[in-house]
Amino acid sequence: MSRENGWMELEEQHTCGVYRKQPVVIVRGEGARVWDAEGREYVDCATGHGVALLGHAHPRVVAAIQEQARRLITCPETVYNDRRAELTAELIALAPWAERVFFCNSGTEAVETALKFARLVTGRPGIIAARNGFHGRTMGALSATWRPEYRRPFEPLVPGFAHVPYNNPDALEEAIGPETAAVILEGVQGEGGVVLGDGAYLQRAQELCRERGALFIVDEIQTGLGRTGRMLACEHYGLEPDMVCLAKGIAGGVPMGAVLLGPHVGKLPSAVHGSTFGGNPLACAAALATLRTIREQALPERAAELGALFLSRLRAVRSPLVRDVRGLGLMVGVELRRKARPYLRALLQRGVIALTAGPLVLRLLPPLIISREDLEFVACQLEEALATPPSEERNDNDG
Ligand SMILES: *Cc1c(COP(=O)(O)O)cnc(C)c1O
Repeated sequence: MSRENGWMELEEQHTCGVYRKQPVVIVRGEGARVWDAEGREYVDCATGHGVALLGHAHPRVVAAIQEQARRLITCPETVYNDRRAELTAELIALAPWAERVFFCNSGTEAVETALKFARLVTGRPGIIAARNGFHGRTMGALSATWRPEYRRPFEPLVPGFAHVPYNNPDALEEAIGPETAAVILEGVQGEGGVVLGDGAYLQRAQELCRERGALFIVDEIQTGLGRTGRMLACEHYGLEPDMVCLAKGIAGGVPMGAVLLGPHVGKLPSAVHGSTFGGNPLACAAALATLRTIREQALPERAAELGALFLSRLRAVRSPLVRDVRGLGLMVGVELRRKARPYLRALLQRGVIALTAGPLVLRLLPPLIISREDLEFVACQLEEALATPPSEERNDNDG
């Protein structure tokens, strides 16, 4: 038995089973590359679902974590902290409309926080989300998430949630009423299949919220911090939401979530919400290094430029299997005419780690520091993988 099979078997024995795993044991990463236990090299276009914006083992993030780990790892928000103070300023500088920030530890917690704050501030119960949207797995965030397979086993969910078709302003206009606390939308639906939001729709959503006293929440957990070619996807459409949820890449791979709060949220009463690990100095130091690197190296601009090249290269892939190639910056979806999942395996065998988004879409979320050569390699491997019939997998029901 190979060493790699040994690790897989050991993990398989006791893992609870909720993840559909790719058959590879990743043990090391550097830049846009990762290596498995047998020393095979891969270009990482999964990046932990888009977490590794700066790639793996970015020296500045590594140094920040090492230095902070020596100084102070933990200290809750019931006291002040130098790194947290700096990070707060850095985050607020990201968005001209943002005034305050709440720190937590993951995406779903950021969404959970935004939903709670919306109810708190408006005194209303209703939350409107979009069909095909994904906002996380805890009860509140799950109630905003669309996919029935994720929701159904856990019902009853939180009351007061409704889903409307995405990119349909009329449906939204009809849905927002006097009991609506908030509308929550993604600027590009990530898990839902890399579906680009229409600018006029998103602007109308914000306008309707303002008119009717509801708050506008944009979930930028996947789109945020340079991924789409702007620091926030909101910038593409000139949006000034009341809350923006961030997580995934914010701290270079260290778990962290944050919610940016606009003036309609304001300063909240003490003790209504909190998190033990929220704003811990280790994550704050990692986030500071990450955000400063993204800003100083103009990585959103880089993502815009490379993303445009990558999209046109992928559109040149001649395969009858490809139905659509779409994306914004380095958030890219290739919609196939058949199930995408078997092609993940084919790509893995060719040295590319990718994701799916729904049953038909291959999703590529490369790090923003990836080279043109690596993107060309990914496009070539995809071209070849699509030209070869994949080996079918037994269980094919998942995205
Ligand atoms: C990943 C994701 C979440 C959930 O984040 P977790 O850290 O996994 O809880 C929420 N919203 C969007 C848009 C995401 O992509």
